[in-house]
Amino acid sequence: VLEIHHLSKTFGTNVVLRDIDFSVDEGDVTCIIGASGSGKSTLLRCVNLLETPTTGEILYHDKDITDRKMNAASYRTRVGMVFQNFNLFNNMTVLDNCMVGQIKVLKKDKEEAKRKAMLYLEKVGMAPYINAKPRQLSGGQKQRVAIARALAMEPEILLFDEPTSALDPQMVGEVLAVMRTLAKEGLTMIIVTHEMAFARDVSNHVVYMAGGVIEEEGAPADIFGNPQKNSTKEFLNRFM
Ligand code: ATP
Ligand code: MG
Repeated sequence: VLEIHHLSKTFGTNVVLRDIDFSVDEGDVTCIIGASGSGKSTLLRCVNLLETPTTGEILYHDKDITDRKMNAASYRTRVGMVFQNFNLFNNMTVLDNCMVGQIKVLKKDKEEAKRKAMLYLEKVGMAPYINAKPRQLSGGQKQRVAIARALAMEPEILLFDEPTSALDPQMVGEVLAVMRTLAKEGLTMIIVTHEMAFARDVSNHVVYMAGGVIEEEGAPADIFGNPQKNSTKEFLNRFM
């Protein structure tokens, strides 16, 4: 589905990503791990075209979406994103949050948008809260709404940037449970996370980043059970 070749990103003189190469197949759950500042969010934002890569290509179904001639807007509707801080519209109800993108971006009619919104709100267990405003919800509930909103766009790939890092510990589990279900159902996901047990159990591919490069990548059993590089070992020792 996605192939990233020689991607780099610099901000001024600060080289944040250097020669990143990796690919994602349909149904893959890829977890990106690494220390703060290693470039994980920037990589995800490049994949989503929230940032323009400085060099390199991102092939989506064999088409380079960094090419100016490509339709970035239509690509963005195929790739959803869930953020650490939910990014819900606070003045809108839960239901409206899950409908507005479908209506404005996908040009769905209201009935269809509502049907899809309800379907995915039910899936994340938030259907009883359709008339609530985000401020009335707990962090875990807000994040489940944010996931439903992303799913309602029916993306081909869903990106998560530390979806549980802003949550109180007792709410982490309910969000990870939803993500686990999506993984089982075969949704293609790229997840930046510090939840190592989740990464080990749920992903089929782990990418360890340090200093803007991919230090090591592979199957979770290899990365967590038999890391090859000292830097990977040291990082995992700090987290597990
Ligand atoms: P964390 O775990 O803390 O979220 P991260 O791995 O996601 O860290 P990034 O947010 O991708 O790291 O940041 C990597 C580097 O890029 C940092 O040194 C950061 O200061 C720099 N950076 C990120 N965005 C910008 C920007 N818009 N302008 C300048 N520098 C930036
Ligand atoms: Mg980050």
